[in-house]
Amino acid sequence: MWVSGKSTAVPTPATFKLDPQSLVSDNSSSGQNQASNDSDGTTKGPLAVDYEIRKGDTLSEIFEEKDIPATLLQHILEADSEYLSLETLMPGKVLTFRYDDQHNLTELDLQLDPARKVSFVRQDDDSFVHQQVESKTHWESQILTGEIRGSFYASGMKAGLSEAQVASLSHLLKNKLNFRRDLRAGDAFAVMVGHEITQEDQATGHTRIEAVSLSRGKHVYNAFLYDDGNYYDENGESILPAFLRWPTTRHFRVSSPFNPKRLHPVTGRRAPHNGVDLATPTGTPVRSTGDGVVTRIGNHPYAGKYIDIDHNGSFETRYLHLSKIMVKRGERVKRGEKIALSGNTGRTTGPHLHFEFHVKGRPVNPLTADIPTAASVPRKDLASFKSQVHQQLALMRAATDPASLVATGPDQGSDTATN
Ligand SMILES: [Zn+2]
Repeated sequence: MWVSGKSTAVPTPATFKLDPQSLVSDNSSSGQNQASNDSDGTTKGPLAVDYEIRKGDTLSEIFEEKDIPATLLQHILEADSEYLSLETLMPGKVLTFRYDDQHNLTELDLQLDPARKVSFVRQDDDSFVHQQVESKTHWESQILTGEIRGSFYASGMKAGLSEAQVASLSHLLKNKLNFRRDLRAGDAFAVMVGHEITQEDQATGHTRIEAVSLSRGKHVYNAFLYDDGNYYDENGESILPAFLRWPTTRHFRVSSPFNPKRLHPVTGRRAPHNGVDLATPTGTPVRSTGDGVVTRIGNHPYAGKYIDIDHNGSFETRYLHLSKIMVKRGERVKRGEKIALSGNTGRTTGPHLHFEFHVKGRPVNPLTADIPTAASVPRKDLASFKSQVHQQLALMRAATDPASLVATGPDQGSDTATN
């Protein structure tokens, strides 16, 4: 998943080189840094202590080690229940504990990637408020090319694609061709991979497939990512099935609506509700609203048993308070597939299904949002879509065969339709 940012208008594949080292934050050392020192050397004022996450760490162990009351961790987890930012503690990432003069915890920060930081800020009543800080990013494109030698998987890996990217490509083109049966040795492919980059020129680690072109004999199979997050062929026809609106076969009463500005009934502070609550009796089958990959399952003290599903990079769905999870992490699921039974786990006032839909990293109202249910690029956007396709195809062709830069006239760019 990644959050918006501007696409670069014209990718420059020839000059873009991704340095794998740039993915590693240089702020990886643990230690203390004091905001101010007295003349006699004793610490005064706010203190920040970094903790680098190690494999197998749990928050409760870290808090215990730091002698922070468990009740504060509970309050932090409560503030995180609409975000689940602390659910995946990636080894190497840094937690920053901030204290006041009396060594009371006042804030907990987690750097999610070079562009994103979440903070949990303590309030007077000891509850915490979740804040996310994002810096500006843009996307830079890189073109990877290869030929089929052996399986598509092996050929893709050899070209420099990640395992997840090869899986996404297979998924994108699977309705057009049978990878096992149709591909021949020597068939060529080019893939445009976008990398999210901060203004300080650091890669955030988020990538996306922006275009793919696969030539099989006289046939060319293409897929292009458009602004709406969906993939289309060169004619603007959607190549993936549309999303279902509801995660249940029946429609249930909405017991609590999507509300990013919701006020907490007790504290009166802003406490967003990032999904819709559907009044499902425990045991109601829950289905994935789109084709995707299960990225996370877990059990959260407030969110209960939950599932996160990534739908080809631009979209994510989330299902909370489940009674039974029927999928595994990493599993590919189909639209409409039963993934769980609804329940009443976590902190709830009764059985229900909390369902979220995220577009480019941001929660939207799943019942009303403009999610891709359309089968093709809207007519009014077709001209700009075709001009993007034209440009991407020319760049991919140039990367595959540098000589074609000279040989290919500007008007032949879209001459690759298979029909
Ligand atoms: Zn809810």
